[in-house]
Amino acid sequence: IRQKIVAGNWKMNGSKESISLLINGLLEMEGSDSEVVVAPSFPYLSQVESLISGSAIVLAAQNVSQEVKGAFTGEVSASMLGDFGVKYVLLGHSERRSLYGEIDALVASKVKAVLDFGLVPMFCVGETLAEREAGKTLEVCERQIQAVIDVVGIAAFEGLVIAYEPVWAIGTGLSASAEQAQEVHKAIRDFLAQSSESVSQKVQILYGGSVKASTSSALFQMPDVDGALVGGASLDAKEFIAIVKAAG
Ligand code: 13P
Repeated sequence: IRQKIVAGNWKMNGSKESISLLINGLLEMEGSDSEVVVAPSFPYLSQVESLISGSAIVLAAQNVSQEVKGAFTGEVSASMLGDFGVKYVLLGHSERRSLYGEIDALVASKVKAVLDFGLVPMFCVGETLAEREAGKTLEVCERQIQAVIDVVGIAAFEGLVIAYEPVWAIGTGLSASAEQAQEVHKAIRDFLAQSSESVSQKVQILYGGSVKASTSSALFQMPDVDGALVGGASLDAKEFIAIVKAAG
């Protein structure tokens, strides 16, 4: 019985004004059995931390440094994120992998930095369209996961969340079908089970990629889909609340 998580990845969007409106909209949401998470850009963490205080909404960051502290100009450490009430940190997002050169080993060291500080990585995996068409979906997801297991060990996966985000579905309007998502989520769980059955049953696996309210209920009915990581649709309070409702 895994709690569902509905997380909004705002990416590089928003202003003080639009974020205040968005959070005030989200605060009108009724109580939910799912955990509701928002991930603003760094400069807005403090603003969002205050706006959500006393509510059930949980804060996430979109990136972190793999280093603890020191001469790393422009970087933000896990302890700094903790200082602003952050619980989750998105890692391994395809935009970080493809646009910022974050290779598996770097992602794994960031996962370790986040776990070492007691925060929760929301660790993203997923294949490109070319990889899917070449029948390499599982191979890619398993390689991305194994790189993290190699650094933090399988037991640490009890303390992280996996997001399956097929690259071809991100920002394209072309969501994976509920069945396609279930197939990969199940395969990821089976892969983890090869190292630890109990961890594989506990780890929450979210789906991400063009999630909308209209398609989310079918996704959430799948036994191995434990929630959603929502990009574009999370910038609209009504749409995001509808997704949270669909999660139950
Ligand atoms: P979209 O929901 O905009 O496709 O983005 C998904 C995503 O990348 C969430 O991290």
